[in-house]
Amino acid sequence: MTQPITPETVSAILRDPNSPLYPTQITVFCDHCGTEATGDYMVSGEMTSAQRLAVAREYLVANEGWEHDEYGDDFCPEHASTGTTR
Ligand SMILES: [Zn+2]
Repeated sequence: MTQPITPETVSAILRDPNSPLYPTQITVFCDHCGTEATGDYMVSGEMTSAQRLAVAREYLVANEGWEHDEYGDDFCPEHASTGTTR
């Protein structure tokens, strides 16, 4: 059974004392132009800030066309895969 995540589902997760996850706002910056992508992501209290950022990156890369390169830089959809931004 697949259902979209509704506010009710999020509320259920938040009420579940066994769930370590909670939503937090994370911002990723384009290292070329400074464009920001801010969103709410489910993280756990045990995750480091680097791990939380990785959650946001993973979402943006998979869904929004962002790119995270081997140098640790992030690029917005406009500057992703240009290869000549450095
Ligand atoms: Zn950019």
